[in-house]
Amino acid sequence: MINYSALLDYVMWRNTKKMIKVVKFGGSSLASAAQFKKVGAIIRKEETRRYVVPSAPGKRFDGDIKVTDMLYECYRAAEKGEKIAGKIKKIQARYQEIIDGLGLDLKLDEQFAEIEKNFIAQAGSDYAASRGEFLNGIVMANYLGYTYIDSAEVICFDENGNFLADKTDEVLSERLKDLDNAVVPGFYGAKPDGSVKTFSRGGSDITGSIVAKAVHADIYENWTDVSGFLVTDPRIVKDPEVISTITYRELRELSYMGATVLHEDSIFPLRQEGIPIHVLNTNA
Ligand code: ASP
Repeated sequence: MINYSALLDYVMWRNTKKMIKVVKFGGSSLASAAQFKKVGAIIRKEETRRYVVPSAPGKRFDGDIKVTDMLYECYRAAEKGEKIAGKIKKIQARYQEIIDGLGLDLKLDEQFAEIEKNFIAQAGSDYAASRGEFLNGIVMANYLGYTYIDSAEVICFDENGNFLADKTDEVLSERLKDLDNAVVPGFYGAKPDGSVKTFSRGGSDITGSIVAKAVHADIYENWTDVSGFLVTDPRIVKDPEVISTITYRELRELSYMGATVLHEDSIFPLRQEGIPIHVLNTNA
């Protein structure tokens, strides 16, 4: 027999509960000030979009270089003992262009001085790559007026670099529980000794799903530059159909087989919690 009173209570609770969305934006969605403005408009449109996970600035145009790749390259030069001041300046210019385009009162000089120092001291290529998200998170938090959380404090790895799901869930949910809004940069966390560890490439998707799990989000929105999953590769077949709904299992399989829309490891935490993923296009 259906307990209608319990059902009614549940429906009332669902309607009054403040909905939570975790929104992750990929690098091309955050490659320039113009893209940041689109993202800002998306976030501000719904107050449910409370927790934001940004990637590092990606390509602005065909042939452009992602900030993450610039950082890896710069770090390789540092390892060889080459001068890196020029490369660091170029990376800083990418952020400055965004900051100026958004009209923010924000300076990243101190952060870049520290990064240059740590590159020369050979802080590791994970540390190097992670700075893309670390810095973009600062810009994003400043732009939105959201609290900034350094992922090194909340995304936990063990000393061998294995991701610690349970510990992270505990630390992250505790940290976010009293915050209405926050920016948590994607892609990295830290080992117990504080050294930075990244996920594999494209790993900001994983951070997004970990945050969604920690706050028991109603929906995880993954914003990218394609309109969802397509039935085939658009570089081979013109205008393929969009798959409107897909199971976690099918999604994982597709990601595993090389569909680049979502990182395969981002699916597990969501599936555990039964959180739906919406794949959305920032430009459409
Ligand atoms: N910025 C990192 C990369 O280029 C992580 C990400 O974008 O998800 O792989």
